[in-house]
Amino acid sequence: MRRFLIAGNWKMNLDLTEGSALIQAMLGNSDLQSALDAVDVVACPPYTMLHKAADLLDGSAIALGAQNMHQEEEGAYTGEVSGKMLVSVGCEYVILGHSERRQYFKESDELINRKAKAALKVGLKPIICVGETLNQRESGVTNQVVEEQIRGVLEDLTVQDMRAVTIAYEPVWAIGTGKTASPEQAQEVHRMIRELVGNLYSTELADQIRIQYGGSMKPANALELLSQPDVNGGLIGGACLKSESFSEIVKIAGGVSK
Ligand code: PEP
Repeated sequence: MRRFLIAGNWKMNLDLTEGSALIQAMLGNSDLQSALDAVDVVACPPYTMLHKAADLLDGSAIALGAQNMHQEEEGAYTGEVSGKMLVSVGCEYVILGHSERRQYFKESDELINRKAKAALKVGLKPIICVGETLNQRESGVTNQVVEEQIRGVLEDLTVQDMRAVTIAYEPVWAIGTGKTASPEQAQEVHRMIRELVGNLYSTELADQIRIQYGGSMKPANALELLSQPDVNGGLIGGACLKSESFSEIVKIAGGVSK
């Protein structure tokens, strides 16, 4: 059995007061709380509120994650934050290689791979993002693009490393656009990723690894996406900024049994 993993990527939204209110609302939401027996839930706020969020989440089953980290442990990298620092403020997960980081900060598969190794070294669980652009989808190269990204970001990761990894398939054209991949489109790529993990590692690992879908997931489309056999959760952007919509997605995940 693969437990669903629903993670909220807050991006560069919500200050300390607003973010604290969101966490309090999530803690007080009975739909979300009652689904936590069946679903793993992660909140990924901006760095500025990780410490406070860890305090607020203390004793709850909601885990804390960061949205990025640097590949080195420490040093002269002004403005950067290391995995060790994330662990020290209570993070369990870290999102790596989000398409916005690939696009705006020119992150390559090779860099994301280095970050993944650094994250694993300090005990963080990486959520590694892959996905094609609209142009690539329309040119019919989605599978090639995603396969190349997967091979690059996972290079030299061992089976043991991979047990801590979640892959997030996020078609770039569906992120923050309101356009969602159809359940069939999502399933097709998720299946391909699982087969690739099977070829690169083992069928046992391929069966176990969680592959999340991300791209305008919301309460209205979560059921059909999460019902796909190879979709094991969601990476949620816009809809995680309101406790009601995020909790509704978590509740839907809790109701889907595979
Ligand atoms: C994301 O940022 O990972 C994401 C999926 O965003 P949205 O849900 O807003 O499309």
